[in-house]
Amino acid sequence: MAIRKIREIGDSVLNKPCKEVTEMTPRIKTLIQDMLDTMYDAYGVGLAAPQVGILKRIVVIDTTGEDPMVLINPKIIEMSGEQTGSEGCLSVPGKSGTVTRPNYVKATALNENMEAIEVEGTELLARAICHELDHLDGVLYVEKVEGELVSAGSYEDEEEL
Ligand code: ZN
Repeated sequence: MAIRKIREIGDSVLNKPCKEVTEMTPRIKTLIQDMLDTMYDAYGVGLAAPQVGILKRIVVIDTTGEDPMVLINPKIIEMSGEQTGSEGCLSVPGKSGTVTRPNYVKATALNENMEAIEVEGTELLARAICHELDHLDGVLYVEKVEGELVSAGSYEDEEEL
């Protein structure tokens, strides 16, 4: 178990596009395990590789606390509906803001064994998938916030991604 340092807004690694993963290596396996450890340690529900300084297209998500999902080279292939709600990010500590996202998304990806998988989700899971995939393109949610960023804790339902 290893906790990696979470990069924060202002660190240029968060604004760069990530590269696709072409093969699983022991290093990447360790990275994925560390990303899960780091996400749980920070009480986040999602984490993208650039948040720990690695420019690879890998995200981990767990919206329930007992169902970790590893998505490598993820792509959204379907989305519908709309949800507007509070969103936070482990890389923007202490803040949250209102962001509109699709209410349903379906994505394709590879899992940690490099097998093709399809995932779909609504509400928080859909929000998490969109938020984490944005990280892989160097986009932070603060660019999509409607209105002002506020201090975290203003809403009951906010989650850090
Ligand atoms: Zn984030």
